[in-house]
Amino acid sequence: MSGNNEGIIVILSSPSGAGKTTLVKEISKRNNFQISISHTTRKPRSNETEGKDYYFVNETEFKNLIDENKFLEYAKVFKNYYGSSKDIVFKKLNKAENVIFDIDWQGTEQIKSQKLNYKIVTIFILPPSRDELYNRLLNRERNDEKIAKERMTQFNEDVLHWKDYDFVVINDDLENCYKKIIKFIKSTDNKKDTNYQKLISLHVKSLIN
Ligand code: ADP
Ligand code: 5GP
Repeated sequence: MSGNNEGIIVILSSPSGAGKTTLVKEISKRNNFQISISHTTRKPRSNETEGKDYYFVNETEFKNLIDENKFLEYAKVFKNYYGSSKDIVFKKLNKAENVIFDIDWQGTEQIKSQKLNYKIVTIFILPPSRDELYNRLLNRERNDEKIAKERMTQFNEDVLHWKDYDFVVINDDLENCYKKIIKFIKSTDNKKDTNYQKLISLHVKSLIN
């Protein structure tokens, strides 16, 4: 999709449970995008595979990687560390492969501030409603209310970062959302549509309690 001899960077962020991991996988499956597989100190979920979903490491291993300057960006999210490996990402970009990231707003800030010589497109995903978000979290966490509630506590703060992204999309129907994202990535006109921004702003207000 880049058209140049270098790949582009696409970043998806969202409050937990809005659907960015699902969307990143779909985008990678149906387009020429390689997923940046992060390192994390979080324990694997039952459906997650080492090296496919994450590289699962302990805190000492993660801190050694920080000391060795191995991360393009890293952050602490929900008491766990998460980071994107520099080597893996740059190898792909320099082979003209497009790289897609599923990272939080802190990581996005860090990547943007480095002023890298690659095109970067940032996209923020919103849930259709607070109730639907909670249901998605509960469902994913196999009805573990404690984890779902813990993730919801961060929502009001995380959602406010939508303003720092190039494009915002509501993940109601998955296929619709997917199509909007692809259209945006392919578009050369990245000017923000003020009417659309107002609509998103109202939607965000309805989500915050
Ligand atoms: P995130 O990566 O943003 O935390 P996930 O991609 O893990 O979120 O999605 C959270 C849960 O919601 C998953 O169980 C996923 O299958 C489900 N999900 C994602 N998008 C949709 C959608 N459009 N409609 C219904 N369920 C969805
Ligand atoms: P989860 O535990 O649900 O997989 O991810 C929790 C949060 O950490 C999500 O917002 C996800 O985008 C973010 N995350 C995953 N990998 C990384 C990473 O490498 N860096 C940063 N900054 N955030 C990440």
